[in-house]
Amino acid sequence: MTSVPEFMRFSCLVKKGVSEVRERKIPELTEYDCLIKMKACNICTVDYQQWLGLREHQGYPMAGGHEGTGEIVKVGAKVQDFKPGDRVIVGYQGCGHCAACRQGMTTACKDFRKESEDGYKFGEFGFADYTVKRSDVLYKVNKDLDPSQAAFGEPLADCIRGAKIMHVKPFETIVVIGAGPMGLLNAAAYRAFGARVIVTELIPSKIEMSKKMGFITINSKETDAVQAIKDLTDGVGADAVCVAVANTFAYKQGWEMLKKQGGRFLVFAAGYPAPELDVAANDIHYKEAEILGTYGCTTADFEDAAKALSTGIIDVSPLVEAKYTLDEMQEAYAKAAEPESYRVSIVL
Ligand SMILES: [Zn+2]
Ligand SMILES: [Zn+2]
Repeated sequence: MTSVPEFMRFSCLVKKGVSEVRERKIPELTEYDCLIKMKACNICTVDYQQWLGLREHQGYPMAGGHEGTGEIVKVGAKVQDFKPGDRVIVGYQGCGHCAACRQGMTTACKDFRKESEDGYKFGEFGFADYTVKRSDVLYKVNKDLDPSQAAFGEPLADCIRGAKIMHVKPFETIVVIGAGPMGLLNAAAYRAFGARVIVTELIPSKIEMSKKMGFITINSKETDAVQAIKDLTDGVGADAVCVAVANTFAYKQGWEMLKKQGGRFLVFAAGYPAPELDVAANDIHYKEAEILGTYGCTTADFEDAAKALSTGIIDVSPLVEAKYTLDEMQEAYAKAAEPESYRVSIVL
């Protein structure tokens, strides 16, 4: 068996614009825990916006990193379904016992992103060489998958959750507003559900990426995107719209793209400062529209994301923007915060 060090090295955010690598003792494994040698952890908006100082309500020091993947090196006495050598995606860890956890909705658990006993906000320790997690929050993933791609397990699971909430059906037309990493990941999930996907975007490099991934893409800077959607749907409009950029104008535009009756409107992202959604109540009535939100994912969505990545049904390789090491986290955050960046991956 691999020899296991006593200390783990991890990166945390100590204040706006400052990330530090620190050491702490690796927590003792309880009987249901696994020790994971981390392979990669990708930087989410939750992380880089904290680095930018846009989400300071999250608190410092913050040991985030929830888009992680690694290899199990040691298991607790009662772990039955995992063994050393297994490659896993790290899911959300809640208390495991409350009503929310028992429905797989860990995001609603009081312990979700709980501060660690040694005072680290979020307490995820994903940007680390080693980390300890309960076996019930791990999901097996194909060993041959590049770790930076396997680290898409969590964000992809979020998009699969959104697809289920929006009850996406085959052959429907779904519009995704925004071709950033989450927009295109949503688009890929809807395509896997059998829908026809149209992406709208303003930034040229992102328009290129969307086309490269094979989506019908509208340049909403040069074209009237609402009219373009009408034209592409025989005047009907979209069956559903996912707004993947939290922006008041995007909400307004997305709403206008919906078909006359029975459309679904998904608010996918949070924005800081918070955008407005200005929709008339009468309009919701006449349109029989559903306004939906999604946040995070459930255990079932993690399972689905692990399968989608392991089988290659969803290919996220174009979305890996750059790779950095733990000691280069400052540069990595700066890269992740650039408006044109896709996912920045920390290879551990
Ligand atoms: Zn994330
Ligand atoms: Zn719980």
